Amino acid sequence: MNAKTAGVPVFINGEWFVPQTDSHTPVCDPSLGEVIAQTPMCGPDIVDQAVAACDAAALDWAETPPVERARILFRYKMLLEDHFEELAQSVTREHGKTLTEARGDVRRGVEVVEYACGAPELLKGESLENIARGIDCDVIKQPVGICAGICPYNFPALVPMWMYPLALACGNTFILKPSEKVPLTGVRLIELLQEAGLPKGVLNIVHGGKACVDALLTHPKIRAISFVGSSPVAKYIFETGTQHGKRVQAAGGAKNYVFVMPDADFKHSVTGLVDAAFGCAGQRCMAGSTAVTIGPAADKLLPPLAEAVRAIKVGPTSCDPTANMGPVISAQHREKVAGLITSGEKEGAHVVVDGRHLKMPDYPKGFYLGPTIVDKVRADMTIAKEEVFGPVLNVMRFEDLESAIEMANRTIFGNGACIYTQSGKAAREFRHRIKSGMVGINVGVPAPLAYFPFSGWDHSFFGDLHLQGREGIMFYTRQKVTTWRWFRQGEGDIWHKEK
Ligand code: NAD
Repeated sequence: MNAKTAGVPVFINGEWFVPQTDSHTPVCDPSLGEVIAQTPMCGPDIVDQAVAACDAAALDWAETPPVERARILFRYKMLLEDHFEELAQSVTREHGKTLTEARGDVRRGVEVVEYACGAPELLKGESLENIARGIDCDVIKQPVGICAGICPYNFPALVPMWMYPLALACGNTFILKPSEKVPLTGVRLIELLQEAGLPKGVLNIVHGGKACVDALLTHPKIRAISFVGSSPVAKYIFETGTQHGKRVQAAGGAKNYVFVMPDADFKHSVTGLVDAAFGCAGQRCMAGSTAVTIGPAADKLLPPLAEAVRAIKVGPTSCDPTANMGPVISAQHREKVAGLITSGEKEGAHVVVDGRHLKMPDYPKGFYLGPTIVDKVRADMTIAKEEVFGPVLNVMRFEDLESAIEMANRTIFGNGACIYTQSGKAAREFRHRIKSGMVGINVGVPAPLAYFPFSGWDHSFFGDLHLQGREGIMFYTRQKVTTWRWFRQGEGDIWHKEK
């Protein structure tokens, strides 16, 4: 597809076309601040077409043996490897993260496809002979039906691939709605899936915002919704989807704490914190956005940390491979993040490294914000309560581990948390007590791999079954429990079925 300011196509029943819509959202290269494509904002009519295509393809796909579905996913995995660099470049261009980060985005997605290739094993059921004399019982997993996936902007490759590879492996048909801000990588991912031999109608793409999402949430034929995005929208998706009889998994925002104990290895703590806070310009649900220092750790940590942060080279990732941090997604988001830094300053925090005034004279239209450290943040400040989702590291100082854990556990979120320490006792206490679904011990960003659940808690996740791993398989299947008994012919007596 030639994306240059062109309308981004939908994919319905095996056909790519740009729908006629009243409104569009511009897709930008954030490094240059230039519009590179226009996303059509679809409504219920396009969603209806996508559902009809899913419906028509559903029976045949559900009857396709898991091993045949897996063969298509194996071919897909090979195509993803062949086009790996092209996909990473697409991520960098529409999102602004560095090419190295974009490669991680694609690689983590490919790992979900690899996991989904195990469909015949993953879909095996359970059985027990003789639950009573001559009676057996077993459980099989069957597809849920038509599923839909609604994605955020910050992982244009990974988040869609959290969803459709597992849904398809389980025999469902699927409607993907990428973020309207970064739809191009999703389109390319599905072009490759088509090339891998996925039958028409099994996966369809629609584009848009609230109107499109509402049409998905309320459509009576859609049985399951996967969502990843901000917490208020995740809550809305969960409530609306479940009210309309669907199963919903809705991952939300986060506020992730990186504890640094006085006995920590400070070299690794600094490297880990820089990566955790400023990787992808802080636009990660697993960003380590707050350093929580205990006792004298703050004074030991701050000088080398500030030095490392000042050395980060911010640049146009789409044309300068030496940049180690890119822009944020939009001018509007840059203003929001800068405003939160200013609010912290007004409420009494101390800005140690200030990225608000970064100048990029060669790229004046790019959405740049320099890396920032805000020290002496208190729990009652706006910047401590809201998800910042930008290149900003808060520092909160505590006298002891106990009071720091108490503060962290008061957040409404519960995505990730980690601790840097050499003490097994402190690490155990932290893991046991911290109110967070994903924990790192001397690991800055503990994002689980494809075969583990992405296990957010509280306002970081609404639902029961998380994305990825076995929980992902459970989400995309329904269990059927059969109790078997066979009578000996003519006798009305029980005999074993294998006789
Ligand atoms: P967002 O909530 O603004 O948008 C996510 C999706 O919801 C988009 O597809 C968008 O079109 C749709 N949407 C937006 N507003 C809507 C509304 N009012 N009604 C219905 N649909 C709506 O999120 P974003 O800014 O694209 O992404 C960043 C957020 O995603 C951050 O909060 C980040 O923490 C979160 N995130 C969470 C995880 C996780 O696993 N927990 C992973 C990645 C991102």
